[in-house]
Amino acid sequence: MIRETVLTKNDLIYPLFVVPGKNIRNPVKSMPGVFQFSIDNLVKECKEVRDLGIPAVILFGIPEHKDEVGSEAYASDGIVQKAIRAIKKEVNNLLIITDVCMCEYTSHGHCGVLSGEEILNDETIALLAKEAVSHVEAGADMVASSDMMDGRVLAIRKALDDKGYTKIPIMSYAAKYASGYYGPFRDAAESTPTFGDRRSHQMDTGNINEALREVEADIEEGADIVMVKPAGPYLDVIRKVKEKFGMPTAAYQVSGEYSMIKAAGMNGWIDEERVMIESLTAIKRAGADMILTYFAKDAAKWIDKNRK
Ligand SMILES: [Zn+2]
Repeated sequence: MIRETVLTKNDLIYPLFVVPGKNIRNPVKSMPGVFQFSIDNLVKECKEVRDLGIPAVILFGIPEHKDEVGSEAYASDGIVQKAIRAIKKEVNNLLIITDVCMCEYTSHGHCGVLSGEEILNDETIALLAKEAVSHVEAGADMVASSDMMDGRVLAIRKALDDKGYTKIPIMSYAAKYASGYYGPFRDAAESTPTFGDRRSHQMDTGNINEALREVEADIEEGADIVMVKPAGPYLDVIRKVKEKFGMPTAAYQVSGEYSMIKAAGMNGWIDEERVMIESLTAIKRAGADMILTYFAKDAAKWIDKNRK
């Protein structure tokens, strides 16, 4: 009765990785319990997620071909576009969010188009807008821009509105830190840059005022939900963002946070279930309204088991 923060299934968003092919369920080595799915298996997984009572998934695509300008990111028959159509055909009552970025689709693994070794901001946001529109045309319920280019939320908002998709919300990765915790994700999404890193556009760990400026800019550009990423090491940022802006606030418990808990749990060094629920509850307590987490299915099962 006196507990202030209670984790519920409604707080959870489950990230999923989709690859070309049939009957594929590739384990991601550095993320035990996480798989890359071909579309047929992805549809089955989405049914299971829906049946567990998790309200939403976010899709990341691994394309057949990568090129300099990430063409498959905005192709109408791209991997994510095909996946959305397949899920929408067979699974109701599941919100589909899509990741809008270029790094899974470019041959160099950077989040935009390059000139030499530099990412061209404005050329990139035009492509991101195209990518977002193609996802929504395929049936996506929400788009999530993860690239951290300047001005991309506004560009996506305008592009969606121009096509009549005025009611499709944008979740913006507003305060995304250049973080070592992303390591395992790059195995899952096959998006490691071939040179350099993402420090030109992602944020420095030591900065919180900058995070607030980034969030404010995204809200002004039309973001409906703002995200802090990673979650656990940045609980103070989540709290400040929530207090200052009062916006629907998402937090991404990233691959490294997941894998550390999994690995220690598998070794018997910690009680995995207990630490999982503790970590998610802490993120919610900090101010997150929704949590993107690879633990979503495990947490939903735990809630079923423990809250009857
Ligand atoms: Zn990216």
